[in-house]
Amino acid sequence: MPSIQQNLEASNKDYVSSKFPGPLPLPPSEGYAVVTCMDARIDPAAQFGIPLGGAHVVRNAGGSVKEAFRSLVISQQILNTKEVLVIKHTDCGMLQFQKSDAITAVKQNAGEEGVREVEDIEFLTFPDLEEEVKKDVEWLKGKLVEKGIVVSGWVYDVQTGTVKRITA
Ligand SMILES: [Zn+2]
Repeated sequence: MPSIQQNLEASNKDYVSSKFPGPLPLPPSEGYAVVTCMDARIDPAAQFGIPLGGAHVVRNAGGSVKEAFRSLVISQQILNTKEVLVIKHTDCGMLQFQKSDAITAVKQNAGEEGVREVEDIEFLTFPDLEEEVKKDVEWLKGKLVEKGIVVSGWVYDVQTGTVKRITA
């Protein structure tokens, strides 16, 4: 089995020779950004119809708009995107873990010194999926810098591959 790094090199070689479309402009051609989870089962380009060069995709654990905010400000203020799709998903790890689980794991793996490195992190776990989508959309809409930006909330179902609208 090829190593992860060998896979990268071989796959990229194939991409360059057969699929690379040539240089594209920096600002997204479709003028929007997606905030979604880092979950390995999410393929934003395929599942959400994003062409190469079309949209910013900001990913983090849970698809948190709070964690994505820095990137969204750059996306909107500098690179002229006008809409945000917030897409969380079923079976998300952030529905299942608590901060205490992360702290316990860090304590086992890296000791008390390690805990001190992560204890101030807001892990942004949440108990209710659709409620969290609504809360994230409202949080973003409440920001002055989001004036004029269209924000909508969605849930992607990892069991069926379907996406469902949660907010307008
Ligand atoms: Zn997730």
